[in-house]
Amino acid sequence: MASDEFSLIERYFRQPSNRAVPTQGLRLGIGDDAAVSRVPAACLLVQTIDTLISGRHFPATAKPEDVAYKVLSVNVSDLVAMGAKPWTFLLALTLPDTDKNFLEGFSKGLFAAANDYSIDLIGGDTCRGDLSITIQANGLVPDGCYLERAGAQPGDHIMVSGSIGLAALGLALEQGRIGMDITAAHTCLNALHRPRARTDLIVLLREFASAAIDVSDGLIADLGHVLQQSGVGARLFLDDLDLHPYFSEHDAHSMALNGGDDYQIVFTVPSRNLEGLLDTVTEQGLDVRAIGEIVDDGYQLITQHKAVDLLAHSEFAGGYNHFVA
Ligand code: ADP
Ligand code: MG
Repeated sequence: MASDEFSLIERYFRQPSNRAVPTQGLRLGIGDDAAVSRVPAACLLVQTIDTLISGRHFPATAKPEDVAYKVLSVNVSDLVAMGAKPWTFLLALTLPDTDKNFLEGFSKGLFAAANDYSIDLIGGDTCRGDLSITIQANGLVPDGCYLERAGAQPGDHIMVSGSIGLAALGLALEQGRIGMDITAAHTCLNALHRPRARTDLIVLLREFASAAIDVSDGLIADLGHVLQQSGVGARLFLDDLDLHPYFSEHDAHSMALNGGDDYQIVFTVPSRNLEGLLDTVTEQGLDVRAIGEIVDDGYQLITQHKAVDLLAHSEFAGGYNHFVA
């Protein structure tokens, strides 16, 4: 490694954690040939990796601070969907040049996210090439408490967090396809560029959910993965989705349901757990709502006037069929 790369790592990535407690189980972090840690007793290690490529996953004009925040959020969101608490992560950074402005912003956004999620950077790799960012994140879950996509059963309730479709609106705004007042636009652009992974739901999911997935490719597509892997069907109630008013005003529901980048969690809850879940949701003031039910088979969207077959209706099934085909 060249000396400027060494100083780059020291300057931008080897930062003291500002948390009071040291990273659980970490023996050796950045600075040696590899990191060394011990998985805490009675925990399972949950691992995920995601890459963001400039020009494909974010525009070349995106703020480095936001890019960093988003790539860590995307990884942490996968941990949340498994019921795992963020623990440590590795960063593989490919940079076209040593751009001080980029690195400063990137490092700021990365450590802001790391702090928000209580996750520690323990190592990585830095090399030269077209801008690409890969994060490998590790989470912890008590043995037996992790969630799978395959756990949904007929009779389970389907729940979702947050508001689906805001990032899709943000993208349309950014591309100049739609207009909006400034406050609403700010919310949507923020959802697109700086999504907040739902770490506030981890304990709730472990306690009450039978299956979960994070919404990255669109609600219909991602819930579709749960249905496929669980061997069940679903009925979704459009009116229960509480979509942004833009979608009904412009008859653009499919935009919300097929738009990606939400990083909300869609999950299923057995009837016996519903009361406990709703009590916790109220107590903690969480934005979680019931949007449908798991049935034996089929995939339907129920509107006021009709039941839309999502497997046959091209407007809605675009994202989903893409993965079935
Ligand atoms: P090696 O040549 O043994 O692979 P490197 O020179 O790539 O080691 O990295 C030196 C140290 O810096 C290692 O501990 C590595 O994990 C860490 N590191 C390298 N790049 C990054 C990065 N972008 N972010 C965090 N840590 C990094
Ligand atoms: Mg290396």
